[in-house]
Amino acid sequence: MSIQDKDHQRNQKDHYDQRFRQNIMQTTCSHIQELTTLQVADEHVCEECIKQHGTWVHLRTCQTCGVTLCCDDSPMKHMTAHYHETSHPVISSAEPGERWLWCYPDKVFAEY
Ligand SMILES: [Zn+2]
Ligand SMILES: [Zn+2]
Ligand SMILES: [Zn+2]
Repeated sequence: MSIQDKDHQRNQKDHYDQRFRQNIMQTTCSHIQELTTLQVADEHVCEECIKQHGTWVHLRTCQTCGVTLCCDDSPMKHMTAHYHETSHPVISSAEPGERWLWCYPDKVFAEY
């Protein structure tokens, strides 16, 4: 990779971070406003469903600890269970093409 390519990549990331911050500052939720970086899914699976041999519908990523778990349309609702266990407030969609955050305690939905 050339130096120019690397610069280009970095510029794109800066631009992306800037837009992310601008958009999340417009929310009324302090939890979302405090986010500095977006946690993204390492692997596109629900870690708990894998352990329990379950299936899931959609995936969400916890913005506090980065764990990826299944949504409320899934039989086990692992992300909501994770919130009740840990009080980690904000999740994002881990679905490709979806760019939104959800805060459980404030019930705030934010696109970025
Ligand atoms: Zn909040
Ligand atoms: Zn699950
Ligand atoms: Zn968490």
